[in-house]
Amino acid sequence: MSDDCVFCELIRRGDMTPNDWSEAGPGFRVFAPLNPVTKGHLLVVPTEHVTDALDDPRVTAFTMGAAATVAKGPCNFITSVGAEATQTVRHLHIHIVPRRQHDGLQLPWSEWDAERAELVQDYSILEGLLDSLADKGER
Ligand SMILES: [Zn+2]
Repeated sequence: MSDDCVFCELIRRGDMTPNDWSEAGPGFRVFAPLNPVTKGHLLVVPTEHVTDALDDPRVTAFTMGAAATVAKGPCNFITSVGAEATQTVRHLHIHIVPRRQHDGLQLPWSEWDAERAELVQDYSILEGLLDSLADKGER
């Protein structure tokens, strides 16, 4: 728990929250965001405070597993790391965004742009990862 974290505060207060706790399991909570983008949009939040998906991979994996038990049908799982990636609450959370045909919700990369794609094709980060896995005999 973190004293200055809004999600830790919501978890600490239990059912005394501004949101309806729709579902909860051991180690995580599920609730509706203040500004849902589609019908049924939910947040899955670990009860353990970690700042984001890179902070503790064990908690990230657990939270993604929890989201997989909660989600129903077509959806996006979205999580952000850092303000640059639009993370506004510094406590790991996974958005479950239910999707429907022609719901009109655009993802940032919905419009394919060949020129831009060429500019951002830099997979050098993967080369280091693959070398690291090979060194550990995991490849
Ligand atoms: Zn927190």
